[in-house]
Amino acid sequence: MAPRIRELPESVWARIAAGEVVERPASAVKEMVENALDAGAHRIRVRLWDGGRLRIVVEDDGCGIALDDLPLALTPHATSKIGGIEDLEAIRTLGYRGEALASLTAVATVEIRSRPEDGTDGTGGLIRASEGRVSEHTAVNCTAGTRVQVDELFGNLPARRKFLKSAAGELRRAALLMREYAICRPDVSFVLEHDGREVLSTDGGGDRRRAVERLWGPEPAVQTVRSEAGHLSLECWWQPRQGRNDIAAFVNGRAVADPVVKGAVSAAARELTGNWALLLSIDPSLVDVNIHPAKAEIRFRYPGEVFEVVREAAALLGGPAPVMVRDKFVIGRASCRERV
Ligand code: ADP
Ligand code: MG
Repeated sequence: MAPRIRELPESVWARIAAGEVVERPASAVKEMVENALDAGAHRIRVRLWDGGRLRIVVEDDGCGIALDDLPLALTPHATSKIGGIEDLEAIRTLGYRGEALASLTAVATVEIRSRPEDGTDGTGGLIRASEGRVSEHTAVNCTAGTRVQVDELFGNLPARRKFLKSAAGELRRAALLMREYAICRPDVSFVLEHDGREVLSTDGGGDRRRAVERLWGPEPAVQTVRSEAGHLSLECWWQPRQGRNDIAAFVNGRAVADPVVKGAVSAAARELTGNWALLLSIDPSLVDVNIHPAKAEIRFRYPGEVFEVVREAAALLGGPAPVMVRDKFVIGRASCRERV
């Protein structure tokens, strides 16, 4: 006899789906930091308690959310970032799926306080929800910008909660993500605190070298190469360190875990190990970011070209001087000379 098929109640499917977007505290932090960046924030402060397992608070000075829109912010598939299927052809924001806050609400208690900059006399809105249900929605006095608080992540999903690492392990992952975004966006001030102690901070002054040296340390000297080819441009930063490669890759301002970029670095620089940051700008219509709910994986239209540009640039670092430069690339080496 064939087993009968039943529809799952929303309380069950919502939690199953949420698990794809939010895997652990660091992925909740990623979604909220990306929201703050999309909101045009200049300052982003993230505070974690017990590695984010007890509480995560993300505050920004971005555009805010109107009081009436707060329930929509927590509604699945509701977003201010795209309007139709054609927008998927060229995504310019970090978010677009309208799933993150709804997912967090399914697996944690979420409170948002927000006030848009314009037109209000200090009055903003508050919304509180858990298990997918809103328990409070009211006007409150608050500063301009948005504050999102997430309590007891996976408190109602023991199967996931037991796979979380220790507080130190979860903090390490969140800190790694914050360091990546701090390098990607030197124009934004990032602060991370854990159990009341500051873990990292950047000034948001806009100088990438300063941000990189603050996060990696000034010694040994950090080197950089820029290149352009066809529809993409690349900024590559490297600090030598014995033994291990830490590669951070960004495509159009999005932190990605991309095997093409990472493979190209390894191919170029087998004996050049250390800290790497690779920042690619590429025509958004040539990248598909809609591969996975967590948006860390992307697909390039021309992966071979990306591989070549990254490999060429990475190979120039660590050498005595920039050697052969193909005509199609414009490469400058900031530490000593520029070549055009
Ligand atoms: P997405 O980012 O994919 O649109 P989210 O669930 O992350 O989906 O957020 C839903 C909506 O809530 C966003 O489209 C945005 O309008 C609003 N929002 C979320 N976080 C912020 C924030 N920090 N500042 C301003 N608006 C926000
Ligand atoms: Mg989002």
